[in-house]
Amino acid sequence: MAKVLCVLYDDPVTGYPSSYARDGVPHIDHYPGGQTAPSPEKIDFTPGQLLGSVSGELGLRPYLESLGHTLVVTSDKEGPDSAFDRELADAEVVISQPFWPAYLTAERIAKAPNLKLAITAGIGSDHVDLTAAIGRGITVAEVTYSNSISVAEHVVMMTLALVRNYLPSHQWVRDGGWNIADCSARAYDLEAMAVGTVAAGRIGLAVLRRLKPFDVALHYTDRHRLAPEVEQELNVTWHPDVESLVRACDVVTINCPLHPETENMFDDALLAKMRRGSYLINTARGKIVDRDAVVRALESGQLAGYAGDVWYPQPAPADHPWRTMPNHGMTPHTSGTTLSAQARYAAGTREILESYFQGRAIRDEYLIVDGGRLAGTGQHSYSAAQGAL
Ligand code: NDP
Repeated sequence: MAKVLCVLYDDPVTGYPSSYARDGVPHIDHYPGGQTAPSPEKIDFTPGQLLGSVSGELGLRPYLESLGHTLVVTSDKEGPDSAFDRELADAEVVISQPFWPAYLTAERIAKAPNLKLAITAGIGSDHVDLTAAIGRGITVAEVTYSNSISVAEHVVMMTLALVRNYLPSHQWVRDGGWNIADCSARAYDLEAMAVGTVAAGRIGLAVLRRLKPFDVALHYTDRHRLAPEVEQELNVTWHPDVESLVRACDVVTINCPLHPETENMFDDALLAKMRRGSYLINTARGKIVDRDAVVRALESGQLAGYAGDVWYPQPAPADHPWRTMPNHGMTPHTSGTTLSAQARYAAGTREILESYFQGRAIRDEYLIVDGGRLAGTGQHSYSAAQGAL
């Protein structure tokens, strides 16, 4: 029987919810492009409940225990004395979420001789040392597409929040003020601005589609061009590189995976090539930007605003400079873990486990590493020489 080790974020400080703001979440069968939403044989949770925190257990306990497996759930993941490190020694399956990543480094993999499957409940397996996983024959899988639209919506929200100066204006209201000039002195319309995405994959393309009705000029750079009919439909301009993109845009959103080629992409040099007063939105991964260069660009006014939900490390320490830098709209890593998204990636995690325990192939689109090589989605998105970034 297998030991399944699940690392999830803590319950709310007020305790695990006993009621919710809404009575459920809409059901989605298919994603844009036709991929079917997760389809496990059964689920043991109510969609719309908090599943991604420790008490939510991704709704997996009844299923795993009915098969005689052991489920260990913890949020304690940092350092050699953490519950994660202790429990990993004899775990066969590790489940982790990018929002609260259990960094599966080469050292940790070396100390986990039974480990056969690492599941990302969500998207983005850069917290796993893929080279080490390939070397050890560990399967790495994620729930592709489960929260792509959730993130795209967050990008649109933050674009508007920054450009229109929403957060400081809201703060004036909370503080009892009516300071219209203070609010409007940094507020603009998005209309007619140029908005560009670094990468037009599932999230980047969804952002372009959602921003099109705002009558903005759309731009993108990607290693592969979109189909000509999609470029035409969106009237979007392709750029051969990120330098060309940022020079043409007022708002830039980052939607590429973190891999050696994209790590530290937005450094002092690239930020200096952006238009003065640009807005930068990063929901991809914290390490795609140079942490301190972003602070400098906000302080100098080169950037008018920075927002996103991805940091390094996660959780970010209390003294992380992004908490106090000017004109930011950061949140913790939450864009892909709405209750709607949780229902999908919990079901996807269950589907992957059902395939694994029944000896069936895991859906190709969920695979990152399998059989000692990059596989499925991983073949497309990641590099075999990739440590835990
Ligand atoms: P996709 O794989 O659909 O798209 C990624 C795109 O990035 C691909 O088109 C890829 O091009 C392109 N790309 C890769 N490298 C570069 C590069 N150097 N320059 C330009 N484009 C590049 O992924 P998703 O859209 O689903 O997700 C993107 C990322 O968003 C994830 O990797 C993850 O890090 C992050 N994410 C964040 C979440 C959150 O909660 N904040 C949740 C989900 C994802 P090619 O086709 O050539 O490979």
